[in-house]
Amino acid sequence: MKPNQARFDWTEAESTAVESADEVRAKFDKSGKTSTLDDSYVQRTLANHKPLPPVTWRNFYREINVVSTLALTVVPALAIYGALTTKLELKTAIWAVIYYYWTGLGITAGYHRLWAHRSYNASKPLQYFLALGGSGAVEGSIRWWSRGHRAHHRYTDTDLDPYSAHKGLLWSHIGWMVFKPRRKPGVADVSDLSRNSVVKWQHRYYLPLILGMGFLLPTAVAGLGWGDWRGGFFYAAAARLLFVHHSTFCVNSLAHWLGDTPFDSKHTPRDHVFTALVTIGEGYHNFHHEFPQDFRNAIKWYQYDPTKWFIWTASKLGLASELKTFPDNEVRKGQYTQALRKLEEMRSEIAWPKDSNHLPILNWDQFQAQHKQSGRNLVVLDGFILDVTNFIDEHPGGYHLIKTRLGKDISTAFNGGVYEHSNAAHNLAAMLRVGALEGGYEVEMLKANPSMKTYAGPAFEKSERERLSQLAKPKAALKPPVYAPETSTVIGEPISKQVGHSLDDVAAFVRAGPPVLQVAS
Ligand SMILES: [Zn+2]
Ligand SMILES: [Zn+2]
Repeated sequence: MKPNQARFDWTEAESTAVESADEVRAKFDKSGKTSTLDDSYVQRTLANHKPLPPVTWRNFYREINVVSTLALTVVPALAIYGALTTKLELKTAIWAVIYYYWTGLGITAGYHRLWAHRSYNASKPLQYFLALGGSGAVEGSIRWWSRGHRAHHRYTDTDLDPYSAHKGLLWSHIGWMVFKPRRKPGVADVSDLSRNSVVKWQHRYYLPLILGMGFLLPTAVAGLGWGDWRGGFFYAAAARLLFVHHSTFCVNSLAHWLGDTPFDSKHTPRDHVFTALVTIGEGYHNFHHEFPQDFRNAIKWYQYDPTKWFIWTASKLGLASELKTFPDNEVRKGQYTQALRKLEEMRSEIAWPKDSNHLPILNWDQFQAQHKQSGRNLVVLDGFILDVTNFIDEHPGGYHLIKTRLGKDISTAFNGGVYEHSNAAHNLAAMLRVGALEGGYEVEMLKANPSMKTYAGPAFEKSERERLSQLAKPKAALKPPVYAPETSTVIGEPISKQVGHSLDDVAAFVRAGPPVLQVAS
């Protein structure tokens, strides 16, 4: 028997969609551009294959894919007409739900995880069960569907992805089926499926299979079972098919639009429990695109993934084997990397204290002079000079605690002498920095006994020695290394360079007032 599904656009699309790597290479050999073969396949193909013109109001009627569009409009029309005119019997309702799961699993456990991704092996009976169910979902043959889906994974979000999410929610949901594809999907190998006997059988008898499984069987079960032929047709066949269609279409649309990206945010796929609920567990799509060979979509036991539960149960019954899971270590690595990326994004949105290298350095006498002459209220905290003029009234510990310490080193009081301040207080204080105190708050001690030094990490040892030797000479203290307080909990740029400033710079800096505070309310 000749394949009768040649009448379908699906098959037509398939026959023109597959382009082997050799074919691509041959074309480039002719055009003399073989040197570009090492470049990105996507860019090369997009540059060398013209797309069909965009769909507009003027040409849309010529660009419609008639067969798909009929299926996508007649089915909802039948479902709505049936719902308005036919009483729903309980038995028929239960049968429609059961049949929804059989045909839905035919797509999710069969078309998707078994054939498109080969995430497990299925016995022949299970393969026929899934191929029949998938036929009842009326979404094209296994071979055609898997070929498009492999291209979707390989060229996600590009123009070679048949349902690229970058073309909009409606396009990725049904637009790509309603209109003729603007481009051939990117190359994807389905030779393994061409050798599979169940796939070949389903492809060959696709038309009788979709009529039988899509409409006749659900109608006949209700009709022969409890005499509800009409309900069987309108609810178990038409309405059920409408739900299966849009449920599985949501994997291409909603799963690339709604939710979080815990594994990688390079592309559009996302994880969301709502998508999982409407797609029989295909809603953890960020995980799925990152680890497509994994038979699971949800990795936590409490996440909704009935397709995973179905495959797992089938394996316990001896119907499925070789269930593939990605190594947990690699999954966690993905999570960790993505978490770091999100933290980095957060870091870039936060205002941080001024880079210490750009702060003027004052010795104690200069600090005192600036405090008295500049009209600003300055204090020293952990080696930094803070301008607290605008903060005194806001100090949670009260006005007087600061007022009595202006022009002084408040480090001891701040760090437990009066009150052990929180991390948040340290961070907030760092935003008030206007200068660094030469030698930090130990300058008096060092002056009294230059042979003593404070250990500030190996990187500072050499410069610290040089600084101490310079301290012994007169006038040598104007360009010392900046003290880096180890006790500071503020995260910011390290103090690494020696920066000198003239007294005019210092005065201008202090007069300009404290940096603008950007503290989250
Ligand atoms: Zn996807
Ligand atoms: Zn997939």
